[in-house]
Amino acid sequence: MPTPTAFFQGHFVPLAEAKIGIMTHAFLYGTAVFEGIRGNWNGEQQQLYLFRVRDHIQRVRQSAKIMRLDLRYSDDELVDTITQLAALNGYREDVYIRPIVYKSQEVVGVRMHNLEDDFLAFITPFGAYLDADAGARCATSSWRRVDDAAIPARAKVNGLYVNNAMAKTEAQLNGFDEAIMLNQDGHVSEGSGENIVIVRFGRLITPPPSDNILEGITLETAFEIAQHALGLTVERRTIDRSELYIADEVFMTGTAAHVTPVVEVDRIAIGDGRPGPISRELQRRYFDAITGRLPEHAQWLTPVYDTAVSAGARPADARHRGA
Ligand code: PMP
Repeated sequence: MPTPTAFFQGHFVPLAEAKIGIMTHAFLYGTAVFEGIRGNWNGEQQQLYLFRVRDHIQRVRQSAKIMRLDLRYSDDELVDTITQLAALNGYREDVYIRPIVYKSQEVVGVRMHNLEDDFLAFITPFGAYLDADAGARCATSSWRRVDDAAIPARAKVNGLYVNNAMAKTEAQLNGFDEAIMLNQDGHVSEGSGENIVIVRFGRLITPPPSDNILEGITLETAFEIAQHALGLTVERRTIDRSELYIADEVFMTGTAAHVTPVVEVDRIAIGDGRPGPISRELQRRYFDAITGRLPEHAQWLTPVYDTAVSAGARPADARHRGA
């Protein structure tokens, strides 16, 4: 295996050498924004497919803008860097890439302005996050979702994830798989790392962005498949906690969680307590799309390796370097 490699301070360096100082502003105050990008391994094709890289780059740019962080690289440079990072590491399994824009200056002082910013990215092998086959048993969290007037939830702010971590830990220590967070008004917002969708009246319903959700890329993907392949209608409107209990189906979407059926909320079975047919069908098509089995969705994928030359771990961009 190649040496694990990160992109740090403008260069590819061994992961073991990519270290920040203990006075780094982002470490002191959580002043950073991040993304999570999946690479999905297709063993038959011997290919690693990065999923919707440009959409993740667009979102990290928006997060950075909201938080007054300067991202000095262009979209093309970032796509290139992330694809190269994946190729250099040579993983032949599912991976997760974490780009971060952060306040890199080593200084004390609570503020967002007049500070140096930098960009880094690392990659790590990453298998299943929730049990997508069995479905998730969820609990409504006693922790409320952070409000846009406190820390904008549509920005993936590192410090904000303390809110999510509190909810996740509460759920898991109470014996559940995942938390469902309500917003300040008591309406359903989202999971600790997933958007949430209910199925009622044959339609897919999800909370609007103004209910303090992260505007999920997996959610958009699932909705696109639901509308075009399954002919379903999607709706964005406020959802009550009690509406979860009586929904025909509930599922979660997220880069880590993929499309995961929810089989139980607060110990109340959703439907008959097993993954519902719409969730299952969406999940199946979603997995096919992200692993390069649906040519009509090839535009969502960035292949990492040049399988035309060899079935091995050869960087796709080696062609351009004349290698
Ligand atoms: N909500 C939160 C809080 C998340 O962390 C995530 C994961 N990024 C999502 C929703 C789902 O977003 P996406 O599908 O873009 O990964």
